[in-house]
Amino acid sequence: MSSIFEGLANTPERAELRDAIRTICDRFDDAYWAAKDAAHEFPHEFANAIATGGWLGIAMPVEYGGAGLGVTEAAIMMQEIGRSAGVFAACSTVHINIFGLHAIVKHGTERQKEEWLPDVISGAKRACFGVTEPDAGLDTSKIKTRAVRDGDHYIVQGQKIWTSTAQQADKVVLLARTTPREQCAKPTDGLSLFYADLNPAHVEIREIRKMGRHAVNSNQVFYDNLIVPVSCRIGEEGKGFRYILDSLNPERILNAAECIGIGRRALEKAVAYAGEREVFGRKIGMNQSIQHPLAECWSELYAADLMTLHAAELCDADAPCGLQANAAKYLAADAGFKACDRAIRTHGGMGYAAEYHVERYFREMVATQLAPVSREMILCHIAERALGLPKSY
Ligand SMILES: Cc1cc2nc3c(=O)[nH]c(=O)nc-3n(C[C@H](O)[C@H](O)[C@H](O)COP(=O)(O)OP(=O)(O)OC[C@H]3O[C@@H](n4cnc5c(N)ncnc54)[C@H](O)[C@@H]3O)c2cc1C
Repeated sequence: MSSIFEGLANTPERAELRDAIRTICDRFDDAYWAAKDAAHEFPHEFANAIATGGWLGIAMPVEYGGAGLGVTEAAIMMQEIGRSAGVFAACSTVHINIFGLHAIVKHGTERQKEEWLPDVISGAKRACFGVTEPDAGLDTSKIKTRAVRDGDHYIVQGQKIWTSTAQQADKVVLLARTTPREQCAKPTDGLSLFYADLNPAHVEIREIRKMGRHAVNSNQVFYDNLIVPVSCRIGEEGKGFRYILDSLNPERILNAAECIGIGRRALEKAVAYAGEREVFGRKIGMNQSIQHPLAECWSELYAADLMTLHAAELCDADAPCGLQANAAKYLAADAGFKACDRAIRTHGGMGYAAEYHVERYFREMVATQLAPVSREMILCHIAERALGLPKSY
């Protein structure tokens, strides 16, 4: 089934990159990830292996220790990590490092880049991403976390939800309101972006109990008078929302690649089981009711892969790619979800047993339908921007 990936890894260099990531990922098998999931334990060994290989800086500028490669290469890497036994947990272990600091690369000062980027690239420091809030949901303009300027610093007060990896992070890319919404020309004005220390004296982190991806925590984070120096603000005050928008398309593309990787792993497991399990005196894979859904999964993953490559190459060429990135994420999340679902059904009762791992893949895959953007919001965007229908959000 290697042809699923000819789309993304479509040059010898890209295939080489994919193979290098696969070599690292293969050191961490299903037993490793199942144990981490069961123990709710962060996969430090895997995170270190990726950092040691220098891969966290794949898309970061070379002058700060990165490899200076594009979104396409980063997508190949994330797809391969998604295809590994760690599926979405493995992706979430490193995801924020790949494009989460894009706002710093694009809008940070020289001093900020020199000070912050090398530590994240080497893995010496971990960052998390604090945007979502309980009362705002997808309407980011409604966030309530405030950063009030007081001389050479801001005082941050508020609450975030779903901040992934906050338990391990030293730093947070934090979006907070600096000008009250009613004083702004547009609701999305007046939001500012910071790269702040998660100082435990002023930040309380509480893990959220959730359905899956237990190796990587997501958290409620309470900010209580956190002092953030003005020198830790990224770019201009009030433009934080726009800076976040800059990294949305690469993030959608990476997320699409991850979903395809996860779907491929589930499909491989299903095919292997269909080829060995015998019922009624013959292999279950001889039945078309088993074969056809798997063939559909293959086709849909392949199509999503090509769409993802298209979006990634547009993005790397600095061409408009919002629609393609959103469509890639939509197609890939659906194709990956379907593959995980079919993998369980192909395994019959054993699909529900932890021993065969496909239930873990499925639990993790569900999150990709909801985050970082829901499929509904993607369809709203496509309806508005591609079809010219009225904005509905
Ligand atoms: C595992 C996981 C990890 C996450 N990690 C992070 C992280 O590290 N940092 C971070 O900041 N956030 C993170 N998130 C949050 C994630 O980005 C949000 O959950 C997501 O953006 C959806 O927001 P919400 O949950 O508030 O949904 P809501 O905004 O409450 O929406 C609920 C439902 O209503 C639908 N809906 C809302 N409005 C409309 C409309 N106008 N038209 C159609 N449908 C609509 C949505 O699509 C959704 O299905 C994570 C979430 C999960 C599940």
